[in-house]
Amino acid sequence: MAGIAVGLGSNIMATSALPLEILRNGLTPCYFLSLHCRECGDIRTAIPEVPSDRFHSCPRCHQACEYTLLGEGGTQRELPFWNRIQDSFTMANMIEMHWRVQVARRQA
Ligand SMILES: [Zn+2]
Repeated sequence: MAGIAVGLGSNIMATSALPLEILRNGLTPCYFLSLHCRECGDIRTAIPEVPSDRFHSCPRCHQACEYTLLGEGGTQRELPFWNRIQDSFTMANMIEMHWRVQVARRQA
């Protein structure tokens, strides 16, 4: 990847620049979901694309679950991955470790 010219100023953090920032840091763009599975409880997952459906299958038991789109960001991990909220590894850790997450606009 060719170097990108610097000197654009500090306004590079604008929303529209986020995907570029992610790619520049070698991260894979992803979406973070909060799943509410009846079997497994609350699960956070990161997937490459926003589900087109109201439901997303649980990464653990594969039941269709309702989900909340938490935001988009980037990760160094291979997608998809997931964590149960009960695990010591929290969503806040995940965001700090991998990338900041934009708050998703609420879907109608
Ligand atoms: Zn489940």
